[in-house]
Amino acid sequence: MKVRADRDVCMATGVCVMTADGFFDQDADGLVVLAVDEVPAGEEGRVRNAVRLCPSGALGLVSD
Ligand code: SF4
Repeated sequence: MKVRADRDVCMATGVCVMTADGFFDQDADGLVVLAVDEVPAGEEGRVRNAVRLCPSGALGLVSD
């Protein structure tokens, strides 16, 4: 499974970083930066939560 992020939609809240640290980061403007592309099987729950909790809908999952 892969995660994708639309930086044009991101509102720089940092919820993704707080929910799934290590998978998401923020640049100097607070916009999301993906720390990884491929999500390991054992970590999918945390990343799913981050996608669900993102207030802007900037995050999404892509099945392999
Ligand atoms: S939770 Fe969503 S809106 Fe907030 S920083 Fe992450 S991608 Fe951007």
